[in-house]
Amino acid sequence: MAVKRFGRILRIPTPTPFGVGDINSYVILPEAGSDQLVLIDTGVGTEEAWQALQAGLNEAGYGIKDITLLLLTHAHTDHMGQASRIRETSDCEIWGHENVSSTIASFLPSPERIEVERAVLQRYGFSAQMYDKAYDYRAYIADIFKPCELDRELKDNDVVPIKGFDLKVIHTPGHCPEEVVFWQAQSQQMFSGDHLLPDVTPVCLLEFPETPEGERIHTLSQYYGSADKVLPYEVRYIYPSHGDVFQDHRQLIVGYKLSTERRLLKIAKILEKGGEQTPLEVGQQLFPKVWEEQLYAVISEVMGHLDLLLDEGYVTAKEVAGVVHYALLATPEPGVIFKSVTY
Ligand SMILES: [Zn+2]
Repeated sequence: MAVKRFGRILRIPTPTPFGVGDINSYVILPEAGSDQLVLIDTGVGTEEAWQALQAGLNEAGYGIKDITLLLLTHAHTDHMGQASRIRETSDCEIWGHENVSSTIASFLPSPERIEVERAVLQRYGFSAQMYDKAYDYRAYIADIFKPCELDRELKDNDVVPIKGFDLKVIHTPGHCPEEVVFWQAQSQQMFSGDHLLPDVTPVCLLEFPETPEGERIHTLSQYYGSADKVLPYEVRYIYPSHGDVFQDHRQLIVGYKLSTERRLLKIAKILEKGGEQTPLEVGQQLFPKVWEEQLYAVISEVMGHLDLLLDEGYVTAKEVAGVVHYALLATPEPGVIFKSVTY
């Protein structure tokens, strides 16, 4: 993808080391007579990404030093990785949702938190080695993710004042607890972060409780709560963090729901065939080729769907020798889980 201008919006893709490929940063160019230069999301903290961002801004006659406000859709490495360096260079303010700090803590966990994570994943069937493998990427993340404090914590329904281009903050947790999308009412445009992506379904990452037995957020259910919140907004163009600008977010959300239904039915089949199983066993059958390489994403997907099936009364869970086993009660009917998929 290339640097591209859409009216006052400038899209600057920068490279990431992740499977998702480039991340799009967006710049809201200043109105005539104003020096307010707003950047949405930063790219990862590498020299390569820094140079790409600088070159993109140069094309419009600006540089990183001119940024006055950095907005974060969320705190993942590709969105916030360069935040502290951008602030050092430009002295800009940084605004993001108030839950940003909890995601930073999950990237750079304390020893106590690691113990909780180990205990939780053991209950889902993980061995100690599997835990280490699932999280070995963290050693690397520390190199390209330099978090920093926010100047302002955003809340749902806040308005970011930008001359002639105010943005409404819509809190859309699910992919992560601090995800927000920004909506520009007059021009009916939306910056969707990783909440709405045209080419891939956003992964709803597993959220760990404070203690091994604590309540865990059901992130996939939470995600669809957020999607339903965004659904009624009038949006002509959506600017996602990965992939090209697109239209019709309603159609996209319907598509997500259909693919989630298919996965729920697949899990029901796995449980029907094999009897009660651990989340790890479900994941091994659901993703036979990649489960070992992508343990963290796989267990996030599996738990998201099992939570949903449990909440809707299709499965039960019981603990056997310290490991949770799920059993099928009833096979979900297509179209029943998401009653809103009607058009
Ligand atoms: Zn993300």
